[in-house]
Amino acid sequence: MRYDFLVPARTLFGWGRFAEAGAAARALGTRAFIVSGSRQLERDGTLDRLDALLKQAGVQPVRAGSIHREPRVEDVDRLAAAVREKMALVGSAAGPAGHLVIGIGGGSAIDLAKAASAMAANRESPTVKDYLEGVGKNLSLKQPPLPMLAIPTTAGTGSECTKNAVISSDEGEPIPFKKSLRSDLMVPRAVLLDPQLAVSMPPEVTARTGMDAITQLIESAISCKAQPIPTALAFHGLSLALPLIERAVKNPLDQEAREGMAHAAYLSGITLANAGLGMAHGVAAALGISAAVPHGLACAVMLPAALEANGGARPAEIARVARLLTRHEYQSDEEAARAAPAAVRELCRRIGIPLRLRDVGVRKEQIPAIVKGSRGNSMNGNPRPIDDAELAAILESML
Ligand SMILES: [Zn+2]
Repeated sequence: MRYDFLVPARTLFGWGRFAEAGAAARALGTRAFIVSGSRQLERDGTLDRLDALLKQAGVQPVRAGSIHREPRVEDVDRLAAAVREKMALVGSAAGPAGHLVIGIGGGSAIDLAKAASAMAANRESPTVKDYLEGVGKNLSLKQPPLPMLAIPTTAGTGSECTKNAVISSDEGEPIPFKKSLRSDLMVPRAVLLDPQLAVSMPPEVTARTGMDAITQLIESAISCKAQPIPTALAFHGLSLALPLIERAVKNPLDQEAREGMAHAAYLSGITLANAGLGMAHGVAAALGISAAVPHGLACAVMLPAALEANGGARPAEIARVARLLTRHEYQSDEEAARAAPAAVRELCRRIGIPLRLRDVGVRKEQIPAIVKGSRGNSMNGNPRPIDDAELAAILESML
């Protein structure tokens, strides 16, 4: 056996622990660049409360930027330049006596914060494009990013514990792209995970982000890069999320359901960072680019097809998914694995996730571009190879 296993150095998990944000930040520095997501955090006073908590702990808050969409090259470049400029004004030390970055929000805000903290410390090129996988100059990070505290407010992407940030561009060559800035150095130093912060998330977002976490857990458990620790964590996460997602969607104030989903999403970040993903995520990236389908929704729509395509390659693992979703007594793993796609479709139906690609705006003529755009890093983890013709046929059957 041989593996690497990377996780954030410190995690503070628990209902109401946002109150400890100041102390968690103070352990990393004394001046915090805050990168935030959703406008909801401004409206409901969460950001003002964060400022106050930081000041109480002796940390100077600096609102560095906010984002309301998935981050693009220009968002990262602009934010990194602003952070560098502010650091130059007061001296550029990072760490306990100096600067840190706080990313607060959903996956987009945390990815933007991760990318900006990396680019603030690495200056061989002024644009993050040169550091992305498969585009630009393929530079790698030489310097550790500014220390980062991640405070996720949705339960989905797990970006708070991964080593990559997903960055897109409308102006890619030859086609628009969605690629990763990836380095072992990019795992956030600390995570503050307070499930109470997710109670204001609308049901539709709870459903999508929750299905993203579930897809991440399943794909890393069946991945051809699967490893013993991530697989154990993935099934622990699935044992929480599969029975609880419907409750979290239908009753936003259900504390047990919110805690379960937040914990599952956090685990899904650890599992995907250490064991990779598969076909559903490969296609989801392309659906985001070609048809602007939100990430979690794209994963959810693709998950049943991914289970169908991989049932023969990973019957034991996929059978466990079916057994967590239904009470039926299956005679064999093979029988249970064959039932898993229908069980996931039924779950999607109950939480309002559409099943067909046309329901998320995909047209037949887009399929060749989607097939082409699916060949990213995620697809490399799929338990068996799926060639372009097979993938096109799967997508056409889902229209
Ligand atoms: Zn995902």
